[in-house]
Amino acid sequence: MQTNFSEQQLKNKDNKSSEKIIRKCVHCGFCNATCPTYQILGDELDGPRGRIYLIKDMLENNKPANSKIVKHIDRCLSCYSCMTTCPSGVNYMHIIDHGRKHIEKTYVRPFKERIIRTLLSIILSNSSYFKCIGILTQLIKPFSFIFPSRVKETIKLMPSKFPKKTLPKLEVYPATNRKKPVARVALLTGCVQKVIDPAINESTIRLLNRHGIEVVVSKGIKCCGSLDHHLGKEELSNENFKKNISIWHEEYLKNGLDAIISNTSGCGTMLKDYMFLFRQDKDFKKKAKKISQLTKDITEYLDEYVKLNFIKTKKINRKYKIAYHSACSMQHAQKVHDAPINLIKKTGNQVLNIPDGHICCGSAGTYNILQTDISKKLLKNKIKNIEKIKPEFISTGNIGCITQINKEIQIPILHTVEIIDWYTGGPKPEKIKNL
Ligand code: SF4
Ligand code: SF4
Repeated sequence: MQTNFSEQQLKNKDNKSSEKIIRKCVHCGFCNATCPTYQILGDELDGPRGRIYLIKDMLENNKPANSKIVKHIDRCLSCYSCMTTCPSGVNYMHIIDHGRKHIEKTYVRPFKERIIRTLLSIILSNSSYFKCIGILTQLIKPFSFIFPSRVKETIKLMPSKFPKKTLPKLEVYPATNRKKPVARVALLTGCVQKVIDPAINESTIRLLNRHGIEVVVSKGIKCCGSLDHHLGKEELSNENFKKNISIWHEEYLKNGLDAIISNTSGCGTMLKDYMFLFRQDKDFKKKAKKISQLTKDITEYLDEYVKLNFIKTKKINRKYKIAYHSACSMQHAQKVHDAPINLIKKTGNQVLNIPDGHICCGSAGTYNILQTDISKKLLKNKIKNIEKIKPEFISTGNIGCITQINKEIQIPILHTVEIIDWYTGGPKPEKIKNL
């Protein structure tokens, strides 16, 4: 695509990167074919190519965003299905992030929207606040029918009870039965995940420890920063990114780290992008690069670096039909697709492919709260496709998808790491105890 940025505009690092990306686009429109919002709404401006045009126009002409542009950009899920499809390698993720930043700087959202977005930013990135709101929603759940649709959908996302943690809260979880661990990794325990589904972190820690790996849960690391980043709140997210980078980098220098493990693919995607975000920051450039290079999704790490001891006992000799739901952040952003499937196959169970598996379930961070109508349509399609293949349970690697799919389906859904933990000597996951 031809660009018309002035020399002055190209002195700005974001304009410079976006110009390079836009120039790669050859207008072919292949991306529209796999874009969930284009499929649902059928409007060119609700597809990747149209959104690239809108962002290009704002940036080149120093144009403030208006309600029409905001509507189309806000409808983007950031699922990055378009990046998998694009034959020219257009990095849509960085373009849409730049567009969102520009909107936040040049557009004043209606009062109600601002309040909702601020509340989401405060509540979701802090696990204590999130738990308080969760308890409150449990009380109002029976009366949810009186609330407007968006609140009703948010209440539905909240679990009916918060599971108890079974592991003690430690900063270092030592490798089992070893004086010297075979590796040392940091674990991002996440903000929402550890409240809604602590079993995911517990399975991760148990499994790694059992295989001789020491796990560090660094004090001070709370959220990866993606929630604020995708809400376009640059200052808040930057503060969060810098804190995480500093803490992990210090740990890396002082005590050594072989990897930083993420077991939520949305967060892992964010951590892997720190190196791009700080590419021109003289204080953080090198450190951010190191953190991104160290980051691995748990399935990626287990598949590549750990010799797993799968056990065969009578109790788990039964074979299950497992539908693998590949989160968009996993398959399209991180391009981690085979590792989780390989791992599940090693348990001896059958992996079922979900039809249209490349299309988002409608979770997408805060999308299911901010864009309830589109999100509901996507979820409906996802549920239909899962039910078609009749799995006994579902496996995925992202808490957002787990919460979203759980809302409308009776089939249990586990994080992939819970399955691997179970098949290598951990307990049978509570969620499938009756299977
Ligand atoms: S990120 Fe997803 S929703 Fe957004 S333009 Fe790309 S394919 Fe469409
Ligand atoms: S597929 Fe890639 S090159 Fe083609 S229009 Fe979409 S972004 Fe541009």
